[in-house]
Amino acid sequence: MEIEFGLEDLAKYPFLKEAGDYIKCLSLSIDDLKQEDYQRVLERAKHRVIEAIQKNFISTEIEEPNLEILSFPLALIIVKAIGIDYFMHRYSLAESLRAEKLLEKEKKIIISNIFKSAFNVNTIIIEHDFFDFKMSLIDYLLRATHFHKPEWKLVNRVVEKGFVYVKTHELIRLMREEIRKIIYERMKSLSLPKIPENIKEIIDEISKALPSLPSKELQKTTPEMFPPCVMHVLDLLQKGQNVPHYGRFLLTSYLLGIGKSIDEVINIYPKAPDFSERLTRYQVEHIAGIRGGRKRYKTPSCRTLITHGLCFKDETLCDKIKNPIQFGRKPVIFKKKKIDEHNSDDYG
Ligand code: SF4
Repeated sequence: MEIEFGLEDLAKYPFLKEAGDYIKCLSLSIDDLKQEDYQRVLERAKHRVIEAIQKNFISTEIEEPNLEILSFPLALIIVKAIGIDYFMHRYSLAESLRAEKLLEKEKKIIISNIFKSAFNVNTIIIEHDFFDFKMSLIDYLLRATHFHKPEWKLVNRVVEKGFVYVKTHELIRLMREEIRKIIYERMKSLSLPKIPENIKEIIDEISKALPSLPSKELQKTTPEMFPPCVMHVLDLLQKGQNVPHYGRFLLTSYLLGIGKSIDEVINIYPKAPDFSERLTRYQVEHIAGIRGGRKRYKTPSCRTLITHGLCFKDETLCDKIKNPIQFGRKPVIFKKKKIDEHNSDDYG
């Protein structure tokens, strides 16, 4: 059943097309935001960005629906104007986490309609002791392949007549990743308008309060240059989530393989909850062949990464790739003295 979203819904989920349509009907331009009447919209947009960038979080409280709806596109402009891709990723993630938190409290009919409106995916509400929705096998697989925990594997799911059964929080988890992607893409493709002085001041203020980036080297490298499997591990690190042992091995061996120094690789890790510089240095140097058997480990093959549930293949970008090191670049040729290399399958 299709429903019409109300202002409260659009305030909670301002990335929806319906929220954009609502703003269009108001015929507002960015210059209108110079007026005193819109001061609170500016404040909310600024708060949105600061929370997202500094804490990976955006508050879910809604004082006035219009403040939420109008501050969202302005926040996208501010983050885009800051001009650092890493913060666009961080902002998109924080918005998707906010949406996830709000969706967890929604009725099934709203969740189903948001999935349909934002991603054109049909979900069917069911009355069942364990499950709340069913979705087509293809729609499920297109999304669940990004998750590597065993419960997402098709063999561990209830599948019947081409439908996969899911619980509410599972459907929301699938949506979160999609929300993150559409917000990031929207920012990425945004053409910046001429920004009024009062908004420039906010951008300057936020720019001065930015947290440090993972490493200077990575600031120069756009994440699109990394294969999806490596991006997934970087994403977990940036969210402060724990990264599986083999995921760390993939990231380290990959970065060393494309020519990053040991210190550059170590600098990526401090966001992990269990970070210890001494242990990280030991592991990185071990993989680089400076410690232990003095043999460098190669980046694991795509086939090995599939068995570890760490492959997030992009059909276009990963076409004909057998090893992540081949992704979008020629393999690095090491000019130093020949180093013995371990096969990554030996790494445990
Ligand atoms: S196909 Fe290879 S490069 Fe692409 S995500 Fe999978 S493991 Fe990574």
